Amino acid sequence: MGVIGILGGTFDPPHVGHLALAHAAYEQLGLDEVLFMPAGDPWQKADRDVTPAAHRMAMVSLAASVAPYLGADDREIDRTGPTYTIETVTSIGDECVLIVGADAAKGVPSWHRADDLLDIASFAVVDRPGVARSEIDPAVLRRCTWVDMPPIDISSTAIRAHVAAGHTPRFLVPDSIASYIAMNGLYQPGTA
Ligand code: ATP
Ligand code: MG
Repeated sequence: MGVIGILGGTFDPPHVGHLALAHAAYEQLGLDEVLFMPAGDPWQKADRDVTPAAHRMAMVSLAASVAPYLGADDREIDRTGPTYTIETVTSIGDECVLIVGADAAKGVPSWHRADDLLDIASFAVVDRPGVARSEIDPAVLRRCTWVDMPPIDISSTAIRAHVAAGHTPRFLVPDSIASYIAMNGLYQPGTA
């Protein structure tokens, strides 16, 4: 049986960095599929207003529709309370690999029950501009495979700011997501 890649995140909104990462991990690790998994209540982002889960889930479904080996999984959205990766990995049961950018990999030791997670999970990590590999904890490095990808210095934060400045995010997100953002009035000037 094959291995499923899990790309968790806030996806507020999903963008080409997420898609390029999902594709690179799928191809280089020979995964069966890659599931985008939006966090229901990203407890480590409690300092800012996160767009309602229903919008983020809808956008993730649009992102997943661009390739047959991509999927959208709502199990973290449906779970009540904070999102803990250890519960997700346990609930999947099948073999899976957690796909993360280097910034997220750096944060793994602060995750809920990190020691237990590191016993059972493996990671596919991609470099992210601004984060050196040496900043990642050795316990995480031991469990990780590196994914090769040209650096794409884009973030959801930068896209929200771009839209809030009155611009459209075309080519930074799939066209279907640019339309969704416009139609639902997300991130618009005066709302940030
Ligand atoms: P935000 O700015 O809101 O934090 P983000 O762009 O970092 O958004 P997340 O939803 O936080 O997106 O990220 C989900 C996962 O995708 C994380 O593991 C993150 O490291 C990775 N990721 C996001 N953008 C990129 C990118 N441009 N290149 C490589 N990895 C990325
Ligand atoms: Mg982030």
